[in-house]
Amino acid sequence: MPREAETHTDIPFGPEDTPWQKTFSGLRIVGGRPYGTAPSSDPRAAYAGVPEVPHHKVQLPPTGLDAEQYTEAEGLFRRHIDTQTRNFAGYQVTSTLDYEERLGHYLNRHLNNVGDPYQSSSYTLNSKVLERAVLDYFASLWHAKWPHDPEDPESYWGYVLTMGSSEGNLYGLWNARDYLSGKPLRAHHREPDHAAVTQAPCGEGPNAFHPVVFFSEDTHYSLTKAVRALAIDTFHVLGSTRYPGENPLAPGTPWPREVPSTEDGAIDIEKLAVLVRFFAGRGYPILVSLNYGSTFKGAYDDVEAVGRTVRGICAEYGLENRRLHRHGGENGDDDERSGYWLHVDGALGAGYVPYLEMARDAGMVERIPPAFDFRLSDVHSLTMSGHKWMGTPWACGVYMTRTGLQMVPPRSSEYIGAADTTFAGSRNGFSSLLMWDFLARHSYDDQARLAVECDGLAAYAFERLVALQEDLGQDLWVARSPQSLTVRFRQPRADIVRRYSLSSETVHADGATRTYVHLYAMRHLTRQRVDELIGEMRQPGAFPPASSVRITAR
Ligand SMILES: *Cc1c(COP(=O)(O)O)cnc(C)c1O
Repeated sequence: MPREAETHTDIPFGPEDTPWQKTFSGLRIVGGRPYGTAPSSDPRAAYAGVPEVPHHKVQLPPTGLDAEQYTEAEGLFRRHIDTQTRNFAGYQVTSTLDYEERLGHYLNRHLNNVGDPYQSSSYTLNSKVLERAVLDYFASLWHAKWPHDPEDPESYWGYVLTMGSSEGNLYGLWNARDYLSGKPLRAHHREPDHAAVTQAPCGEGPNAFHPVVFFSEDTHYSLTKAVRALAIDTFHVLGSTRYPGENPLAPGTPWPREVPSTEDGAIDIEKLAVLVRFFAGRGYPILVSLNYGSTFKGAYDDVEAVGRTVRGICAEYGLENRRLHRHGGENGDDDERSGYWLHVDGALGAGYVPYLEMARDAGMVERIPPAFDFRLSDVHSLTMSGHKWMGTPWACGVYMTRTGLQMVPPRSSEYIGAADTTFAGSRNGFSSLLMWDFLARHSYDDQARLAVECDGLAAYAFERLVALQEDLGQDLWVARSPQSLTVRFRQPRADIVRRYSLSSETVHADGATRTYVHLYAMRHLTRQRVDELIGEMRQPGAFPPASSVRITAR
């Protein structure tokens, strides 16, 4: 007989504190025993609480909640979210939205964009017709060749993500890894029969199909996860295992984990060049992931300069253009492709900077960040989050590349009636509808004006914080990277951090530990709210001295 798990059937559960074993309706008692396991300890004590939403009010007993209990629980949650929405200032996400009136209808509809966006599917409850309109919109905005044409390698291909840019990064790096390791291109294998071609490519040297990835220390954590999931070697891993002691940035010292950044948070191109040269010189194909709007400092990598630098170095070592032959393959399997791949993580910046550029051209702002899009022939793939600049009630985004860079999907899927070219199986069809709705209601002019307002608000927040720092006579480490929508400063007291949802980052430099927070000037944030935050930080005790701890030994 299986050992009885230790359980406590009299633990108070649900809104009325009913002992667990009494929360079952008669019908659910099978053979005198409740279905399912009883809790092994009180879940209310097991989890971090949200003071505004007491856990027992939202616990889900097997009977469900009655109408009164439901109304109370949902009301508590609603008040909490509405309060937090009002003050939300710490993330690059637009938090006040207005989709409900027009799109509420679709909450009672199922929309699933499973499979390739350009192939209709037997799964007709989809919004691919809107998805393609959204993708064409961004293809034009990012200066790609459109519409998508499967026969034209220069035309764009893309899809709407079910996650945010984390999925775009994962998909981009997956595509890049297979491209650089010489796997077959989709363009050469349109027919399902050929999808099985797996002959290894033949190339120069032992490392010719062993990609190595580079990204800066200001890169989003999703990149670390992506390279682990995809088993792509970072220059740190390859350097430490194959070339210990040979770190070209500082011989004799350990390899850095990531490419160093400048103080502003942009990738240090000179140091990147030194690292890339080390590996290109040893025949490794080069994969670089760049930030366009880094998560914490909002910094823009100079994509054009990186592209020029990486291409130049690759050309010296025969990695600019490579002809791929396959063992035993027909000549038709040969192709020419680059020995490097540039992925741009434009989670916020790719959705925002094009409008700032329009505003610059109209004389509304002076300065904009460097270019990042498909005007640059070195850009291989690009991703953006829909919930950041545009604003959607949940994570979504866009991934885009050139059609000629697509790899053969793992296998064709007759079941869904469309090629399985995306990362997910079922894809969120509501997200395409939301983005379509937003873009239909906001012209370029509207968005250029919004971009100018947000840029101005970031400048305002920076000025006010600098003034606060002077008034308090205390260094609050206030900084804003060029054209960034975020301003960073010393972390204030915990209740202020929570009220404004300020995200934090701890930096170790020169033996000191500094914990920063930042605020993001998204379009729901107002000058009034910035003033309120600064007013709270002006009060005595707003900055506990512990937020700068000097440490002498590491
Ligand atoms: C937010 C962000 C991501 C991740 O985007 P999600 O939409 O949260 O998946 C990736 N990169 C950068 C630079 C980001 O700021």
